[in-house]
Amino acid sequence: MRKEELSNWGNYPKVKAELHFPESAEEVRQLLSSAQRLVPRGNGRSYGDSSLGKAILSSKRLDKFLAFDEKAGILHCEAGVLLSEILEVVVPSGFFLPVTPGTKFITVGGAIAADVHGKNHHVDACFSEHLLFIDVVVETGELIRCSKAEHSELFWETVGGMGNTGFILGASFRLKPVETAFIRQESLKAKNLEEVMAFFEESESWTYTVAWIDCLQKGKNQGRSLLLRGEHAKKEDLPAKWKEKPLTQPKKLQLNMPMQLPGFVLNTFSIKAFNFLYYHKQFSKSSKAIVPYEPFFYPLDFIHNWNRMYGKKGFTQYQFVLPKEKSREGLKEILDQIRISRQGSFLTVLKLFGKSNPLAPHTFPQEGYTLAMDFPIRKGLPDLLKKLDEIVLKFEGRLYLAKDAFMSKAMYEHTYPEFPKPSIFSSDQQIRLST
Ligand SMILES: Cc1cc2nc3c(=O)[nH]c(=O)nc-3n(C[C@H](O)[C@H](O)[C@H](O)COP(=O)(O)OP(=O)(O)OC[C@H]3O[C@@H](n4cnc5c(N)ncnc54)[C@H](O)[C@@H]3O)c2cc1C
Repeated sequence: MRKEELSNWGNYPKVKAELHFPESAEEVRQLLSSAQRLVPRGNGRSYGDSSLGKAILSSKRLDKFLAFDEKAGILHCEAGVLLSEILEVVVPSGFFLPVTPGTKFITVGGAIAADVHGKNHHVDACFSEHLLFIDVVVETGELIRCSKAEHSELFWETVGGMGNTGFILGASFRLKPVETAFIRQESLKAKNLEEVMAFFEESESWTYTVAWIDCLQKGKNQGRSLLLRGEHAKKEDLPAKWKEKPLTQPKKLQLNMPMQLPGFVLNTFSIKAFNFLYYHKQFSKSSKAIVPYEPFFYPLDFIHNWNRMYGKKGFTQYQFVLPKEKSREGLKEILDQIRISRQGSFLTVLKLFGKSNPLAPHTFPQEGYTLAMDFPIRKGLPDLLKKLDEIVLKFEGRLYLAKDAFMSKAMYEHTYPEFPKPSIFSSDQQIRLST
């Protein structure tokens, strides 16, 4: 056991916690017998308070690969294994993660508990879609293997269940075969929201799509953005220099944010300037390239500790989804509200989700557009978020629990009506939202 001050990726809120590092179901069982609230935690890459609490059950020492069937592309590993570690092993063998979020520094347990989505939700759904089984230690201390066929109730409560049903010890899931470690990428410049939405809809046959929006534009420029779409490159797509070793990425430079930046560095001017430069980095309406998979999937991982850019007070990510038929109107209202508040977001990411899975009620994605924005913690922020919540509710959307630190109890109860009641495994977030 270790005592530490902890926060998740947003550096807000912070808690003083006791950390436990079990290595087996038996050790989890022993800790449970002390009957205090024990919060499951992976790599703390959620943004708010979803893996925080006074006593933490970390998966850090559950870091073993248990089996890798290279023929069938099936991996069985412990819950604390990072996606980055999986990629290092499976890509050279011609496989890729079936679903990955925008950072590879998350654990398998965290991927299951948040039922993460990637840029391919409209094609490949969420992480749960690819799971064969998961092993969970539940409140009674029992270790239960559950899947879509066996103990299916526990399975569907656990995926997207944010750790509430128990501590995930390990999982088995199917990987995706790939011929190369590269992506065939196209980048399209959209002059406004109408155009980027049209690009998304005409790109539905592409496996990966995502757009970076300049959230401070108004009028006919509102929603101007760059949309990226991509496919795993085939061997014949590669230039000669990469053809010889198609499953090896070129080595790259890794940067680090050495310290917290002072809060004033992020202001309307710097955010406007960044968004201007980002939008104009591409001159032509469209461009094509073959790129290694890392900059395509994980552009932010290139700078270690980039979250320090937001200073000591930290930041929050606000991610919501709106039903598809209401998205256009809702997104306009949200973007108007942000511009009026003069609290723009450096990075604003838009994605189009495909159909949701009715068996997985806690999983965030629903068919429609999802927008994610980062806001520094400062005085006017709670008021802005309250106004955004009202718009999200008006258009029948909801927020992503893995990013949330501010949602009200009323909004949570209205938008996650089937979420289980707090248990011995509940995080500070669950307690905040249910009491
Ligand atoms: C830069 C960046 C980009 C991101 N992009 C995306 C994205 O594109 N799509 C997306 O879906 N998410 C995205 N995320 C969010 C991230 O994928 C999720 O928050 C993920 O759950 C973090 O995993 P973790 O291992 O760090 O878990 P933690 O943050 O430690 O925990 C997250 C939740 O999982 C639970 N949990 C963790 N381990 C276990 C376990 N062993 N047993 C039971 N419960 C457990 C915790 O209690 C908590 O509720 C992004 C995050 C960052 C920082």
